[in-house]
Amino acid sequence: MSANKIIFLNQKGGVGKTTSVVNLGAALALRGKRVLLIDFDSQGNLSSSLSADNSAPGTYDILTEQISAKEACQKTSINNLDIITANIDLAGLNIELVNVENRNYYVKNALAELENSYDYIIGDCPPSLGLVTINTLVWASYVIIPMQCEYLAMEGLNSLMRTVASIKRSLNQDLTILGILFTMFTKRTKLANEVVEDVTQYFDNLVFKTKIPRNVRLSEAPSHGLPIFAYDKHCLGAKAYYKLSKEVITRVE
Ligand code: ATP
Ligand code: MG
Repeated sequence: MSANKIIFLNQKGGVGKTTSVVNLGAALALRGKRVLLIDFDSQGNLSSSLSADNSAPGTYDILTEQISAKEACQKTSINNLDIITANIDLAGLNIELVNVENRNYYVKNALAELENSYDYIIGDCPPSLGLVTINTLVWASYVIIPMQCEYLAMEGLNSLMRTVASIKRSLNQDLTILGILFTMFTKRTKLANEVVEDVTQYFDNLVFKTKIPRNVRLSEAPSHGLPIFAYDKHCLGAKAYYKLSKEVITRVE
């Protein structure tokens, strides 16, 4: 079976993309799936969240064809969980590839050789819709949209939906929105509950039942280079991501 290719996409910064990639990935690995995480963000937050060596060849080197994707895979401290890192080099890629023919297909072509080595490949996108992000949309089969429950959330969501639909029409017929994930959810605030209600009304079956609570342990774990399950497996954040992984498996498999 070939890998399920998922990206976490939201052009808004700080909505929990990287946190979700790390911890959904680790949860799937704990369930025995072979998982590869790929950092597509020149900030390199995914790489540092898992203490991976981001001076080693990574996403940039794959996309500029200096190294094969297989050679760039590194092991993490978690069994079944591998990573391809990124660093600031990736920021230059947008410019380097801009005039190249087939520039939207770099990621897809470069990662094709990994298809049979993993059950899940999960990409962490930067908070922008630049060339690298478009490339990931051309490669992926599933998009998960993480969102915070805040004012104007619906506007951003509608524009993301249009972007995904337009890529699906033009460059990748296989693209599907797997779900909308509420992150940093606080039950007690009226606004959070209103946003959940609004979004659920419009996108009913797309919304994941699991909501990720605001949980300080989730924000501490990256500074120890660990997924939440290795840092504090009993906290509410760990429970939520473990539950989410079950929902993802049910939707995908
Ligand atoms: P960027 O757009 O910059 O890549 P992002 O969408 O990847 O950001 P994260 O880096 O995952 O977002 O999260 C932003 C900040 O919020 C981080 O400091 C992270 O530790 C914290 N955070 C994420 N999820 C939670 C949560 N559920 N509870 C508490 N803090 C969280
Ligand atoms: Mg990030």
